[in-house]
Amino acid sequence: MAVTYRPEAAELPAFAQKFLKDPKKLFIDGKFVDAKSGKTFPVYNPATGEVLANVAEGDSADIDLAVAAARRAFESGPWRSFSPSQRARLIYQLADKMEERLEDFALLESLDNGKPLAVARVADVPMSIDNLRYMSGWATKILGDSIPIPGEFHAYTRREPIGVAGQIIPWNFPLLMAAWKIGPALAAGCTIVLKPAEQTPLTALLLAEIAAEVGFPEGVLNVVPGYGETAGAAIAAHPDVDKVAFTGSTEVGKLIVKAAAGNLKKVTLELGGKSPNIIFADANIDEAIAGAAFGIFFNMGQCCTAGSRLFVERSVFDQVTQGIAAAAKGMKIGSGLDQTTDIGPLVSDEQLDRVTGYIQSGIDEGARTLTGGSGRASERGYFVAPTVIVDVKPSMKIMREEIFGPVVAATPFDDPREILAEANDTVYGLAAGVWTKDVGNAHRVAAALRAGTVWVNCYNVFDAALPFGGFKQSGWGREMSHNALDCYTETKSVVVKL
Ligand code: NAP
Ligand code: MG
Repeated sequence: MAVTYRPEAAELPAFAQKFLKDPKKLFIDGKFVDAKSGKTFPVYNPATGEVLANVAEGDSADIDLAVAAARRAFESGPWRSFSPSQRARLIYQLADKMEERLEDFALLESLDNGKPLAVARVADVPMSIDNLRYMSGWATKILGDSIPIPGEFHAYTRREPIGVAGQIIPWNFPLLMAAWKIGPALAAGCTIVLKPAEQTPLTALLLAEIAAEVGFPEGVLNVVPGYGETAGAAIAAHPDVDKVAFTGSTEVGKLIVKAAAGNLKKVTLELGGKSPNIIFADANIDEAIAGAAFGIFFNMGQCCTAGSRLFVERSVFDQVTQGIAAAAKGMKIGSGLDQTTDIGPLVSDEQLDRVTGYIQSGIDEGARTLTGGSGRASERGYFVAPTVIVDVKPSMKIMREEIFGPVVAATPFDDPREILAEANDTVYGLAAGVWTKDVGNAHRVAAALRAGTVWVNCYNVFDAALPFGGFKQSGWGREMSHNALDCYTETKSVVVKL
């Protein structure tokens, strides 16, 4: 399989060369500082496996400093006295500045995560900017109620910021996950300690740099790269963190909940998925094929919403699976910086091992690959070919566990009613897709699926105004939309005797 690599480090634009060479530090209390331990950790280019940068490794000592800075900024810093419209303006200015630096962000994201630069340019970065703009608008619209109660009282509610928010994010959409998290927290008036994923800390550090430039007061946004088991765990357990927001695996989500119990900090979680994508025979089959391929191969399948369980009505099963396999075969695999790349590398060697391990487990359990599935696709970098698997059974590991790679498992169905039970037969409930021209069927299925988002005749459509989150073990709470603000505010009732 041909895999293209380019360009090499020496070909990178001057900005990237300098950014990667300069010491990458922690951002605490408005300043870039070394880790207390003096330690750094390497960040790899997934297209080549080479070290891209060395980044200061925050651990619990640094988290203590960041939390103290966030606490000071929350209790006694100027942030506290900022009016909602001042907060709104700063968030908007941050978005403007990101737009000016769009190319820089997109390049770093592609280098760090491996995703196609062309995608980071039109999806990750613009969506991050859009999320911040949307949330800036909410800063001035966080309202209480006036509530009539019996007796001579004036009663009302206030919605106040929750306090210091710890935010732990994954590597699949590094900048976008940061924007989803910081937007509502800043709009609500919280202060933040953000820990990016160890694999992809670079764009969060550029974001911190820009936040300081636009004038966020010291301590409002702290960014502490480091490992989950040390820096992440310290945030989750910290007695002075009021709320923790986490996106990542369900397994770690459960650890966060346990760690948060110490001070009963508020918790929101956006976890994994094993999303069903159901294609009925009456659907526009060409669109369904393209949509199902996009639903699983977008971001190399490293999406929590990935449509990884495909259910296809039997009469069109072969047509659909062959069509997706043909689409997969036509995808160009290469480094993210190659403008013609459709499929970049997975984020890490570890992720490559997980994904290829799952493919092998499917084959060992009797499934068959229509395309892909040949393990590591190249000597260098973490490439896996898009893979379509058939002859699967509901009990197989590849049908139950989140693979988080470009791997779809397809099952034919005969009875449109029975398929709903099978689609819902998962511990997850993040997203689902339905393809049909029958309007009644579409709404009936959308209502019956136990998932936080259902896409009908489309897939992976997101907007800052749409709530996003999971049923069942896919999470707690919602991100984006006005719902996200509820997760960063406390409601206070005030009762005044007249
Ligand atoms: P993960 O371990 O859940 O990582 C997510 C974030 O949590 C990272 O910042 C991670 O730090 C941090 N973390 C890890 N252990 C922690 C702990 N004990 N306490 C606090 N924070 C902790 O995910 P992963 O290991 O990168 O990927 C494993 C699998 O998770 C994937 O294959 C996929 O199935 C799933 N996943 C889901 C999503 C999603 O969007 N729902 C995103 C990523 C991964 P590090 O920087 O050290 O990793
Ligand atoms: Mg991890």
